Formats: sequence, C-alpha cells, structure tokens
Amino acid sequence: MRAQMQDWPLVSTTIIDHAARFHGDRRILTRSAEGPVVTSNWAQIRDKARRVAAGLRKLGLQPGDRVGVMAWNTGRHLEVWHGVPGAGGVTHSLNPRLFDDQLIYIINHAEDRWLMMDHDLVPLIERLAPHLTTVQGYIVMTDRAHMPETSLPGALCYEDWVAEQSADEGWTPVDEGDACGICYTSGTTGNPKGVVYGHRSNVLHAMAVLQPDVLGLSANDVVMPVVPLFHANGWSTGYSTPMAGASMVMPGRDMTAPALYEMLEQGVTITLAVPTVWLALLQHLEETGQRLSTLKRVVIGGSACPRAVMEKFEKVYGVEVIHAWGMTETSPLGSFATPTPEILGLSDEEQMEARLRTGRPFYTVDLNVKTDDGADAPRDGETAGSLFIRGPGVVQRYLKADVEAADPDGWFDTGDVANMDAYGSIKITDRSKDVIKSGGEWISSIDLENFAVAHPSVSEAAAVGVPHPKWDERPVLLVVCSPGKSATKEEVLAQIAEHVAKWQVPDDVLFVEEIPHTATGKISKVSIRKMLEEQGYQLPSS
Ligand code: ADP
Repeated sequence: MRAQMQDWPLVSTTIIDHAARFHGDRRILTRSAEGPVVTSNWAQIRDKARRVAAGLRKLGLQPGDRVGVMAWNTGRHLEVWHGVPGAGGVTHSLNPRLFDDQLIYIINHAEDRWLMMDHDLVPLIERLAPHLTTVQGYIVMTDRAHMPETSLPGALCYEDWVAEQSADEGWTPVDEGDACGICYTSGTTGNPKGVVYGHRSNVLHAMAVLQPDVLGLSANDVVMPVVPLFHANGWSTGYSTPMAGASMVMPGRDMTAPALYEMLEQGVTITLAVPTVWLALLQHLEETGQRLSTLKRVVIGGSACPRAVMEKFEKVYGVEVIHAWGMTETSPLGSFATPTPEILGLSDEEQMEARLRTGRPFYTVDLNVKTDDGADAPRDGETAGSLFIRGPGVVQRYLKADVEAADPDGWFDTGDVANMDAYGSIKITDRSKDVIKSGGEWISSIDLENFAVAHPSVSEAAAVGVPHPKWDERPVLLVVCSPGKSATKEEVLAQIAEHVAKWQVPDDVLFVEEIPHTATGKISKVSIRKMLEEQGYQLPSS
C-alpha cells in the first residue's frame, strides 16, 4: 500500500518562504561589505532573493546552471544564497582565500556561468577573469555609490539590477533531487573536489541539525555564523537559521576580535567558528576585561577544540561550548558532543573529558570506526581506526568523478582517524595522512597539540612526524608563543609528558613566529613537513 500523504518537495525555497511568512520581521543585522552595519529581515531577504531569481532567469540562466558567489557573511549573501537555487541554479560558493590557480581550476571545473562578488573582491576576480572559460557575466554585490571601476566585461551593479526585477514571478520549480549548491574541498592534496549538495540533502540536514542535541536553534535565538558561508556549506546556517525563524547577525569581512566582539554584543545567543577565532577572542576579552552579555552557546568545530578554550568560555564567561565535527563532504555536520544523561551523571572532570570528545552522530548520520583489518573497532574509547560515515547528507560521488566516493553500503571513508567510546561518541585523533607512526604505534598529533597549548605561554602548536631511521617517524612540535610571553622546550615537553606515555613525547620543540595555515584556517601539515624537509631539519636524536 502506498502512502496517501502529500508529495511536498524538500526544496530550499520552502525554507526561505517559511521564514518570510512566519518569521518575516526577525532581524538580520549585517556589517556590510561597504562598512556600515545595516538591517534587514527574513521578509526582505526573501523579496530580494525572488528578484535575484527573476534577474538570473532574465539573463538566461537555465536550471542546473552554476553561479559562483564570492562574498563575506552578509544579508546580501543570504539573498543570493536563496535566490540562485530559487531560479533553479546552483550556488557555487567561492573561498577568496584559495590560491588564484585553485580558484581558476574550480570555477572552470564547475563551469560557472556567472560570478557574483562583494565589491572589495572585484580586483581578485579581475585577476582570474582572463583564465575563466565558462563565465559569461559578472554581478558586483553592491550599490551604485560603491560600484568600483572594473575591467570585468558588462559587470552589473547588484542593487540596481535587483531593483529592476519583480519579486512576484515566483520560484523556478525544481525537483528535490536537483543540485542546490557546490562547495569544493580545500585540496590540500591534489586538486580540490566538488561536493554537490541537493535541495533534499540541504533541507534534511538543516532539519537534522535543529534537533535539541545538535544546534537546537529556536525562533528566540540570534545566530552569528563566524564560519563563512563559503566554507563547508556554511555549517548549514544559511538554511537552519531561517528554518528555525531565528534572527541572524552577519559579521561581514572583519574577523578581528574587537569587531567580532562588537557584533556578538548585538544580542547574539549562539555562534559558530573554528577554534583559532575563539583563541583570539578570548585573548581580547582577557586584555580588555569585556564580558559577553547575551551569548549562551559557542559551537566549535573544523579542528579539535582545545580544553583551555572550553574551560575559559564556561568557567570565566558562563558560555556553553559545544564541540562538533564535520567535513565539506558531509553537509557538513556529522557529530555533536552534547551530553547525554550518562555523561551528566559523571564527575565534572569526566564530563569535561566527554564533552571534549568529538561527539555522537545525530539522526540522519551513521558513523563507524573500522580497524585496519576491516573489523568494527571496539567501543572502548581507545582503539583508533578509520572513521566512516553515511547518510542523506553524505557525498556519494564528487562532481565529474568517474568513481563513487562511497562504498556499496554507502560508507564514505572520511580520511580521519578516530576512536569510539561506550556512549557511541567519537574522538578524532588525526587525519590519516597526519598521523605520526612511531615504532608501529600511532601517536595522535591532535593530542600533542592540545596538551601543548594548555601551557599558558603557548598560543598555537603543530605536531608532525619526521622520518626516523629506527622508529619510522618521531614527533616534532612547532610552537608559537603568545605575544610578550615565552616558554622553554623543557617546559613544553614536561607539560605534554604529564598526559601521554613517554614514547609519545615529541623529540624536539621548534619555536616559530608563525605556523602555516590552509585557506580554511587550519594548520597546514603539508607545508610544515615540506618546510622541515627543505631546511634539512635533523632530529636531535638521529
Ligand atoms: P578542509 O579540508 O578545507 O579543512 P573541511 O571542513 O571539509 O575542510 O575539513 C574537514 C576536516 O576537518 C575533517 O575531516 C577533520 O579532519 C577536521 N575536523 C573537523 N572538525 C574537527 C574536530 N572537531 N576535531 C578534529 N578535527 C576536525
């Protein structure tokens, strides 16, 4: 017997329609790309999104056409985020921090037909333009007063263009299985790979992350995504926030701690970003003595959350920290370390340990850890193996790839190394290519880094394996000290030795001014290994 309920397609336009119809007045506050803080709401965002859709159709956009968008987190970006799929198009989010060659590669690979960009990013796009093979038009996301002189052929001024369109034409009908957005992985090894999100996968993922044990957003929340919309599907905030009818504060391009603090104080209740952002903010708060008056929760993911960050937010500022894991290929959220009754029954120290793990999968996500022999790793919180994931928000095949990215049962190998505990909570201990293999055993670089940054003078640390004639590899730690502070090699190693077995303690500590980062703000182990190799670095013991 078939169900006799309505076939209501799970498409992204239903989200923005819902937000506009039932939470239309909810404020969207933006530090605009032009500078001033400006206000909008869900009704206005939808109105503009409808005009974007109408305008793109008029330009000749056909269903499935890709539109590259390079923009900071602003209300205008939300208009485009919903407007492009509303015309049946596919938003291809572009990270301005990628190298020019990578941007050229992904724009050509995705076959973007139009590019939309914030006005300050025009010079970057001008540099790329001569190498772009499929782009036929450019739209600068600004008003007439800020429209720059540009060599981009026929560049349109967004606000003028939008004003000429009708908001009454409606959305282009799409199938829920159609593509909605594309994000490329950062391509630290090989070319970046395109992950093609669907309408259905984005709607389901947004619904899933609204669960109370995940983001738990409500119409009473004010959400500030510090994580850019162009990074890993914007951690779903572009969909989950309007779905909940929550307000938004969009911080724009200024990611300095004082600027973020100013925006956080605009009533923000929940915010999301990678740990480095919070390290800088906490340092700023310490220096200025400022308090966080409305913030309740901070979601931290993208890299492992250092214990010091969780402790400081919770104990000094009374803000709950939620540690999360995910990746571009998984829409992107995959696990959340929100506590269960079992965890709440533990001692304070054990609770902290549990909440510093990378968390449990939520409904729509299935996770498994497999050891090298293909067996399920025991749920003992120790045995490390490869982390696999499957679900409706997990990649099946990369854009234009010849082979599936998942096995016949849907399991996608994340490339992360993890263990799982008795509560089904995982802990990422490394990326498989960064794991340090010493004497046939694995040493977690993430653990070494986290124990090192617990030293009060250390602001950032990176552990890498360096080839060793006897042990295969030995760990070496790069350390950056906080401004005006210093530490000795012995101090840092003693700090680590308190927590790990003796053979896991790094062989050397190198104090550096800066640790190289990737375009998504993560420590670039590839660059560090290359740097050490080029410098002819020798371990003290070899
Ligand atoms: P990129 O490859 O550009 O860093 P992703 O956001 O897709 O972009 O990165 C996903 C990877 O980031 C994961 O596979 C994992 O290695 C790492 N990661 C994400 N969240 C965490 C976390 N909470 N702890 C440790 N590593 C994490």
